[in-house]
Amino acid sequence: MLLWQNTVLSLANLHLSLTKLIKNLICINKQINYYNKMPKTNAEYLHEYRNTYEGLKKYIIDKWKRKGLVETEQYTYEELFDTWLWFPECENCGVELAPARGARCSNSRCMDHCHKTGIFRNILCNSCNVKRGYYEPESGNTGV
Ligand SMILES: [Zn+2]
Repeated sequence: MLLWQNTVLSLANLHLSLTKLIKNLICINKQINYYNKMPKTNAEYLHEYRNTYEGLKKYIIDKWKRKGLVETEQYTYEELFDTWLWFPECENCGVELAPARGARCSNSRCMDHCHKTGIFRNILCNSCNVKRGYYEPESGNTGV
């Protein structure tokens, strides 16, 4: 008889725990639905846009313009972007370049260009680009 009573008590406790768990899950689901219905912020839209080909192209070309890289008769910004995006390795040391999107690291892809004329020279890893600025001041780089 005692065993039976204990079993019933255990089942009642289990039922109570499951009921609480289900209530919590329903509450969490409501919160997720509420968050998903919230309008996106401008930063979220911008982040999504920059993950597209067109968005990344606009962002990168704008950055090159700010840094003084110029177009010439030999290349347009669009042509340079497509080359830069898929370029496999550093033209100086041969290290495999990091993906175009991502945090800055030693093998990030850089557009080496003359800082006096703005003319593009090579696609280098970040290390080689910085070294060129320090050790070849005649290259026109300032090391930044
Ligand atoms: Zn390199």
